[in-house]
Amino acid sequence: MSEQNCIFCKIVRGELPSNKVYEDGDVMAFHDIRPLAPVHLLVIPKLHVASLAECTDEHQTVLGKIMVLVPKLAKEHGLNDGFRTIINTGRVGGQEVYHLHVHILGGPSALGPMLRRD
Ligand code: AMP
Ligand code: ZN
Repeated sequence: MSEQNCIFCKIVRGELPSNKVYEDGDVMAFHDIRPLAPVHLLVIPKLHVASLAECTDEHQTVLGKIMVLVPKLAKEHGLNDGFRTIINTGRVGGQEVYHLHVHILGGPSALGPMLRRD
């Protein structure tokens, strides 16, 4: 997926709409279009990085910015009793959009187990 066709790059460029909750020079956050919890946000680097598997030392700063932003956004959205962060990576991780993103999920009730135990 090139930056040209990437849906999250299109959101960054303003070519696709988003329900934005945060933006600075390096990072953007917006509501997931198909929420899986009462609060479901996505936090992305503006720079196109396909997944966590592609991250290298040059991404340390933006990854740090994202991780520090996550609890601030969680608090702003009322997630005072906790929340879940998910980064799906690659085929095995079930990644659908190949532009690195951190999911923030939460709401009034517990989210249940991280994965089903069979
Ligand atoms: P993942 O499986 O981790 O790649 O998750 C991709 C997420 O992006 C899914 O939860 C989708 O609902 C979400 N998504 C896809 N397109 C959009 C969009 N245009 N705006 C907001 N969220 C989106
Ligand atoms: Zn992208």
